[in-house]
Amino acid sequence: MITFARSKTELSPDLNILFKSRDASRKIMIIISDITEMQSRCLAARAAGKRIAFVPTMGFLHEGHLSLLREGRKRGDLLVLSIFVNPTQFGQGEDLDSYPRDFVRDESLARECGVDLIFYPEAATIYPAGYATYVTVDGPLTTTLEGASRPTHFRGVTTVVSKLFTIVQPHVAIFGSKDFQQLAVIKRMTTDLNLPVDIVGMPIVRETDGLAMSSRNVYLSADERQQSLALVDTVRQSIAAVNNGEQDAAKLLQEARRRLTAELDLKIDYVKICNVQTLEEVDSVDHEAVMLLAVFVGKTRLIDNSLLVTTC
Ligand code: AMP
Repeated sequence: MITFARSKTELSPDLNILFKSRDASRKIMIIISDITEMQSRCLAARAAGKRIAFVPTMGFLHEGHLSLLREGRKRGDLLVLSIFVNPTQFGQGEDLDSYPRDFVRDESLARECGVDLIFYPEAATIYPAGYATYVTVDGPLTTTLEGASRPTHFRGVTTVVSKLFTIVQPHVAIFGSKDFQQLAVIKRMTTDLNLPVDIVGMPIVRETDGLAMSSRNVYLSADERQQSLALVDTVRQSIAAVNNGEQDAAKLLQEARRRLTAELDLKIDYVKICNVQTLEEVDSVDHEAVMLLAVFVGKTRLIDNSLLVTTC
């Protein structure tokens, strides 16, 4: 079922109409909530030799998401955005119900980025009654860091992403390195399942004061917003320390914890320095490592990360 179209012509299932209209630089975007409709449009696009670029999101779009869409626009003939607040990746007591949503705003931002199709399904469409199949990636990649704090999170992510890949049939899918571990898990899953999708990681987009953009930043009070800058300060200070020759992970982490706990409302969930590929903790930043942190600012859980690269 197509839930939205700009004109009668756009309701046509004939993909040529869609593409001809794009060539005439008329912005056309179709919103689809039905799996079969989405799948058949994407399969038809593939059959017509179009390259499909896909950006999966939970909506409430910000510049971080838009950077992925702009990259997708460059990499594909058909740009597909999904907006789905995926219940299976939220744990008990997490913010599934209060997760921010604004579809009207998302739709207009998506159009500005040249999105062709938005897939906007209901939860019951993705997980109908009797649903029983899950995709999991085993091992430290999913049991450490976010996986330790949110034990069912990655199972939900890999399940929904593999379903979305089956529905959208993308040639390329674009993810943000803001969710560094998620990107590593998706790459692992794609390789292990031989999925014919190129996974592209994009840099973190930050607010002008350095806070990593996140849909959850709207939860922060003015005071918490100020205190949340301790995350980026910590990351930046660690980069500077490594640039000045500090390689001892324990010392870097001690200083990181000191900075974070100096703020009244901050509670560290984890701060770790890990191998970039395996995400296992390292003792020393010998060549390249990644610092990852998750911190509660009041009730809001924020994550951030950065590569630490030794110059010596
Ligand atoms: P979400 O809507 O939070 O599930 O995120 C959808 C995609 O946007 C994921 O690939 C995220 O990593 C990416 N993303 C979220 N925030 C940022 C950001 N600040 N910079 C770059 N990518 C981001």
